[in-house]
Amino acid sequence: MPTERLINELQSFGVRLVDPKIGHESRRGGAGPSDHKAITIDEVTVMVPVHTAPAFESPYLVEKPDALGRSRITRDGLNLGEVSFPTRPRFYDLSTPDGVPYWKIAVLHGRDVLATTVLQTCIRYQSRTKTCQFCAIGQSLAAGRTVERKTPSQLAEVAKAAVELDGVTHMVMTTGTPAGRDRGAAILADSAAAVKAAVDLPIQGQCEPPEDDVWFERMKAAGIDALGMHLEIATPELRARLMPGKAQVPVESYFKAFAAAVSVFGRGQVSTYILAGLGDTVEVILAASQRLIAMGVYPFVVPFVPISGTPLESHPTPPPGFMHDILDPLARMLRASGLRSTDIKAGCGRCGACSALSTYERGAAA
Ligand code: SF4
Repeated sequence: MPTERLINELQSFGVRLVDPKIGHESRRGGAGPSDHKAITIDEVTVMVPVHTAPAFESPYLVEKPDALGRSRITRDGLNLGEVSFPTRPRFYDLSTPDGVPYWKIAVLHGRDVLATTVLQTCIRYQSRTKTCQFCAIGQSLAAGRTVERKTPSQLAEVAKAAVELDGVTHMVMTTGTPAGRDRGAAILADSAAAVKAAVDLPIQGQCEPPEDDVWFERMKAAGIDALGMHLEIATPELRARLMPGKAQVPVESYFKAFAAAVSVFGRGQVSTYILAGLGDTVEVILAASQRLIAMGVYPFVVPFVPISGTPLESHPTPPPGFMHDILDPLARMLRASGLRSTDIKAGCGRCGACSALSTYERGAAA
């Protein structure tokens, strides 16, 4: 089976692990990929669900690793080859002078990405009527697995260690949305400036579109190299139902912000996450992607993965064929436009671990 099809299958079905302690800690709760583990297949590192309900019944099984850390992966007992797991990063063993473990400040995503949620609270998460139904930003905080507000100096300290000890090559800074017109841009800028003063590390910021476009210049001047503003869902009615708080910022406002951001960060350095499998059709996602690509925005389409404890915890992942019907033409659109994940300076599009998209891109380029 081609690697991109296998990744689609694994991200849809998840995997069962004979040894759940294999690799480094999987994430539970929080923003971004959760209930996942990083797995390396054919030299591509992807996030695969391991703690979700479908994963417990997956036909894919990863066996105990051999002495070299390689594990057999099987489907219904049939050997498919070998996978491996990124090892626990060394910076996880360190703590700040006031005793906060580094892994509560930032974590390793994929193979070489340092990821943090600068502000672990969100105005959209205050009540179940407003919260994004797929989001677990409050869960890791409630469980004591992270701290609410990572200070710029903490982030700088951890980023420097992660570069020096573990060779991370870029950083993702996301944030819950605070009250205020900047929608998180201000704390991202402060955090990026501190990190850049400590270590030369490309940074992607992720926030809702600020109300004033001047924040794009401020974020760029502070050291943010690439920006993500995440639509999540493209169909307005679905947005209103599944993310009622965030949907108060309409799709057209995102598109205005994308245009302004591209003029500051450059073509291909602005991106958006689209969660496939929440009701948007293949046609809607491809039409939105076409419009985004024409503006110079990279549409990072990822399969929705339900997170335990969220209102959508029982919502199914999209079938692998549905993802193929999106990612195959999308990769060709990207190829035709000259937008490439490998040209993104930092962030989810460059990491690519939450989707098979970058593997499709490589196939489209071959
Ligand atoms: S694609 Fe983004 S959210 Fe997913 S593992 Fe990579 S950096 Fe993290």
